[in-house]
Amino acid sequence: MGKIKIIKGDITKLSCDAIVNAANSSLLGGGGVDGAIHRGAGPLLLAECRTLGGCRTGQTKITKSYNLPSRFVIHTVGPVYFEHTPSDAEALLTSCYENSLNLAKEKGLKTIAFPLISAGVYGYPQSDAIKVAIETMKLHQNDFDEITLVLFGEREFEIAKEDYPEFL
Ligand code: ADP
Repeated sequence: MGKIKIIKGDITKLSCDAIVNAANSSLLGGGGVDGAIHRGAGPLLLAECRTLGGCRTGQTKITKSYNLPSRFVIHTVGPVYFEHTPSDAEALLTSCYENSLNLAKEKGLKTIAFPLISAGVYGYPQSDAIKVAIETMKLHQNDFDEITLVLFGEREFEIAKEDYPEFL
């Protein structure tokens, strides 16, 4: 069985098969983790993203990762929390993780890292977002060598330490 890990850090520094980007539906760059990924990858990432025709909430698109140490970037669009009922937001956020993991599996990728999708400017409550991430990862654990949840902020990391000490 593969390993789920929770770490604190910057996802752009990781050298795994794929890192996941919490993108917006235009796929043309934004702030937060999206901005960091585009800065790290360089302008060719934006050029490739322009050819993809955007991405719907809960769906995914894959690109190369250019100057980043990972091999691929899987772009997914999380729900804006307050645009949905809580249960629809949860279903959409679950789809982000599910579809990213399924796409990675299809491509034969074995190590993948996620940021805490939707939990920045999209306003998803952090502890609920961590739960969706981990519970969905658990269902796909067997298909990967390692699935990493990368938390950027101190507060998210403190929540994860409390709720999921077994993955730290
Ligand atoms: P969203 O629009 O989906 O909410 P954000 O990028 O605003 O996306 O935030 C998603 C999460 O990514 C937040 O928890 C934020 O703290 C985190 N984040 C921001 N920069 C990085 C980074 N370089 N590596 C990992 N996580 C990051």
